[in-house]
Amino acid sequence: MDKIDVKNLISNPNKLDELLKNATIDSVISYYRFMENITESEKNDNGLRHTIAAFSVRRFSYLFQTYGDGIWHYLLDVIEDYISDRLDEGEFFTPASNNKYLIQLKGSPEEIFRRLYLYFDEISEKMALDKCHMKVTFACGIYDPSGSADSVSEVIKKSTAAMHRASLASSCSTEIVFYSEEIYKSVVRNSIIEQDLCNAVKNNELIVEIQPKYDMKTGKCVSAEALVRWMHPTLGRIPPDDFIPYAEKTGFVIDIDMYVLETICKYMRKWMDSGVNPVTVAVNQSRLHISDPHYVDSVFAMMQEYDVWPNLIELETTESIAFNDYTSVTEILHRLHDYGFILSMDDFGSGYSSLYMLNELEYDELKLDKKLVENINRSDRSIAILRHIVAMAHDINMTVVAEGVETAEQARVLKDIGCDVAQGFYYSYPMPIERFEASVFGKIMSDET
Ligand code: C2E
Ligand code: MG
Ligand code: MG
Repeated sequence: MDKIDVKNLISNPNKLDELLKNATIDSVISYYRFMENITESEKNDNGLRHTIAAFSVRRFSYLFQTYGDGIWHYLLDVIEDYISDRLDEGEFFTPASNNKYLIQLKGSPEEIFRRLYLYFDEISEKMALDKCHMKVTFACGIYDPSGSADSVSEVIKKSTAAMHRASLASSCSTEIVFYSEEIYKSVVRNSIIEQDLCNAVKNNELIVEIQPKYDMKTGKCVSAEALVRWMHPTLGRIPPDDFIPYAEKTGFVIDIDMYVLETICKYMRKWMDSGVNPVTVAVNQSRLHISDPHYVDSVFAMMQEYDVWPNLIELETTESIAFNDYTSVTEILHRLHDYGFILSMDDFGSGYSSLYMLNELEYDELKLDKKLVENINRSDRSIAILRHIVAMAHDINMTVVAEGVETAEQARVLKDIGCDVAQGFYYSYPMPIERFEASVFGKIMSDET
């Protein structure tokens, strides 16, 4: 790593401005001293262990918002004083950026693990005592570079990658994770996904596949679900579960959903122009649309542009829609209904799906989550639950679709208990739309038809 001259850094206003965006001048100087120190110590002590840990306070935004600026800064002071006071000679510590700290400790990774655990526990106890039971926990990644040829910045990147993995743990407790190649690859992959997502629609990298749904009585394909995939230039095919969460975080999911809807409208138009009876197609809609005041109008405008009847489109939303304000959700669903769209509640029976929501919101279709279907063969209890859900949905005039049907036995039970429509690998995998056209309409249609 290049040696960094702190004085030179300070006299370089552009570089400094960039660094100071999220940090104070003290922390920038401290960071560069840290880098100088470990670079220097690496030079002097050839072969010495330079285990680096990166850590951050978990639930940072929650603590900041709940306890306010003053107590947050108090916590940062406690962390800095506490850790700095416990360093031995040749060990270094610095705040690195907004809510991230770096620490270089001597000893085996296991010893460092124990030391850090103790420090985090003690800081947490102190905060709970001093500040109204404030529960502070940490996400920490440890990387031991001994035996590798890693530069200091690579060591920092790797311990930071392990820290990110620790912060994903579902518990709220302190988590310390040792770096592994698998962690690094997934962090690198995720950061490429996050960075490149904004251009995916513009660069025409998204493709839409379609999975047929079958009427359980007649065995005929009566509808289908559109599912997006991303053909990334270097990472290859990326499934939606790997990028939709980032798209939700950044808001790009709005463009993605509209792109999928437009693709389906174009096909619908083509099918109708070529004289076939189209089947209804479901598109997944993120809950983010609900906060967009123009959502209903833009979806309807799309129908008008391609001259497609809204009753050919099913809009699938999950129970997460209920995280929005109920009044606006009710109003938006009502308006969509008025236009004639079919409304489908996706993934029912897993997560937080509530009966209150079923009562309040005007859905036409209930999609049983694949977790419920997967359990069918395990016990009579799961069949009884499904039977009652199906009966309840029918009582309130909802069609029931089972997703994730993988076996003949599951299909048989679902049919027995009155499920209307089924979707799953047992019947068909998601496929390119051209293949769907050939199998369902019996012909491949050119764009001119
Ligand atoms: P979903 O809407 O519940 O879609 C059904 C998922 O189950 C699809 O996964 C489908 O390939 C998979 N599946 C179908 N049959 C079976 C089966 O028999 N067994 C198993 N194990 N899985 C089956 P996929 O395509 O990976 O999509 C995952 C999720 O990504 C979707 O779940 C949906 O929530 C989201 N998604 C997909 N496309 C879009 C989109 O255009 N917009 C938005 N906002 N979300 C999308
Ligand atoms: Mg769906
Ligand atoms: Mg689903």
